[in-house]
Amino acid sequence: MPFTFDNSYARLPQRFYAKQPPTPVASPSVVAVNHLLAAKIGVDAGALNAEILSGNVIPEGADPIATAYAGHQFGGWNPQLGDGRAVLLGEVVGPDGIRRDIQLKGSGPTMFSRNGDGRATLGAVLREYLVSEAMAALGLPTTRALAAVTTGEQILRDGYEPGAVLTRVAQSHIRVGTFQYYYARKDHEALQLLAEHVIARHYPMAAEAENPVRGMLDAIIVRQAELVARWMLVGFIHGVMNTDNSAISGETIDYGPCAFMDIFHPETVFSSIDRHGRYAWNNQPEMAHWNMAQLAQALGPVLGDNVDTEAQEALELFAPAFSNAFYRGFAAKIGMAADTAELRELVTELMGAMAQEDVDFTLFFRHLTLGARTKDFTSVKAMFANPEQITDWISRWNALSADAALMQKVNPVFIPRNHRIEEVITAANQGDLKPFKRLHAVLARPYDEQPENAEYENAPMPEEIVQATFCGT
Ligand code: AMP
Ligand code: MG
Repeated sequence: MPFTFDNSYARLPQRFYAKQPPTPVASPSVVAVNHLLAAKIGVDAGALNAEILSGNVIPEGADPIATAYAGHQFGGWNPQLGDGRAVLLGEVVGPDGIRRDIQLKGSGPTMFSRNGDGRATLGAVLREYLVSEAMAALGLPTTRALAAVTTGEQILRDGYEPGAVLTRVAQSHIRVGTFQYYYARKDHEALQLLAEHVIARHYPMAAEAENPVRGMLDAIIVRQAELVARWMLVGFIHGVMNTDNSAISGETIDYGPCAFMDIFHPETVFSSIDRHGRYAWNNQPEMAHWNMAQLAQALGPVLGDNVDTEAQEALELFAPAFSNAFYRGFAAKIGMAADTAELRELVTELMGAMAQEDVDFTLFFRHLTLGARTKDFTSVKAMFANPEQITDWISRWNALSADAALMQKVNPVFIPRNHRIEEVITAANQGDLKPFKRLHAVLARPYDEQPENAEYENAPMPEEIVQATFCGT
């Protein structure tokens, strides 16, 4: 028995989900099982197999459901989305006391599939596996990947591609769009029940507040602001920050056309469907704030007597929470423990200098860290075609005596670079999983120097640059 399930979401009223078993697949085969994660969350990895991980066999205690949600997609309202290609098998409580969802993604059609086939490509599954696990290793809040299996079936996208199923783990799959679903239906009883569920599960401190729903909203907003700050500090661009892809737990969720930026340009966008730069690197705080405003609106009917004031006060928490997390984090990247006005100026200047040239974001901080240790900044300056500005910046910064050990702790050596992920997917589609296993192993220790894997530090060669990532779902 791999899972000891206790399914609290399935105990909510019928209108929160549809009972939905996974649809069996032809011939499943295991690609990866995450043994370390299994141990952490109280799952017996030894009892997992391709039949269970593909949905062909429903494990004991599971109560598979497809959950209902709505959402704003690129600003446009969609009253009904829901799990169109995923089912929640159930919830487990780990040895750490944390409750987590076990979800199969790519498990077949549901009542929410609209015109989709309910399936996921091997490419999309491996991308989510690698990037979500890299995020976890970097120390950012994220959903995790417990396993990946191929289905033995081909699915039609641009051409035929191998199908796969990802076993995803999340503290919950409740989204901003889950609240919006009931708000749009004027189902205030469901809003109240969902809020109580979220408070008990994710924000127990809010239960003590005079207005628990307000306490919950405040906490969600602060977590979201901090999450986006942390994305930006590692150069992550989510790509589809729609309200249905914004998790109430504060975890990064739904890795679609996401990417880590190579060259630092604040307005960088990867997603092929993001034509107007809505979800560009530097636009992410504004978009997260917008998502939080949608959440505040959806909570209106259960927010108490002074709805507008409560919502407004809560939303005002976003900007300072974001700035504090961003500048504190950036200060650490340049080896400073404190976040002062002077330091913020130094950070802003540095971003300006970097943005004017084609400087690789991750490599810059990697070389700056090495420089802080050796006091030799030749390799940093060499990244700039016109090094005057950065030379001046370095001399002023260097006078503040940066903490090189701190820099090493927060500046990754390895990130899941886009061209490496493409390389993994191309190989996997031809049946070769070695590049996947190797990249996964490298990314498990992102802050450690790994001389034997030094090539994975490199930015892409011009011909390797991935211009756009596709939903490739
Ligand atoms: P996403 O862009 O992956 O966050 O998905 C947006 C919505 O489309 C969600 O409701 C998904 O469940 C649904 N969806 C995405 N891909 C498929 C698919 N292949 N089949 C059915 N539904 C899908
Ligand atoms: Mg989604």
